[in-house]
Amino acid sequence: MHISADQFKKVAQALDSGKITVESDRGLETDAKYDPDKNCINVLSFNTVDYSHADSKGILVHEAVHAIIDINQWDVTQISSEAAGYLAQVMYRRLCADNMVPRVKSNLFVVPLANVFDKCLSIIETLNRTRSSTVPLADCNELRQRVHCMQQYESVTMTEKQTANGI
Ligand SMILES: [Zn+2]
Repeated sequence: MHISADQFKKVAQALDSGKITVESDRGLETDAKYDPDKNCINVLSFNTVDYSHADSKGILVHEAVHAIIDINQWDVTQISSEAAGYLAQVMYRRLCADNMVPRVKSNLFVVPLANVFDKCLSIIETLNRTRSSTVPLADCNELRQRVHCMQQYESVTMTEKQTANGI
């Protein structure tokens, strides 16, 4: 899987052409969620979430990664898709010079998320230092393990695929 600026442009074009839509879903348990079957980015609410902040925009960057995988019909696991989503999200927040403090929902949620963010930051540091855009396999595996420790992904097996049926 190769996530680049060009790939994000594909998402922007799909949004402009209406191939990917954005809908408000007040029943959502997270701020946003990409639905690959409906080609839709569901957002909790246009009113209650401030998408002008780096942390909220970072969540949209994360969801855009799931959309990129769907657009390209890449054969990747759900956990790998999440790992790539978090890495892009953290990279975006770093570029915005955001302080990276996760918005607390509960300790159960925040500690595993902080572990994921920490690993993402260390991967970004390595990529910057080595001037590389390829995440070493060992780092990929560790990030996947940390994602899997998050409450919302505990029931997802390591081999389960993300739906990527195209848009
Ligand atoms: Zn995700």
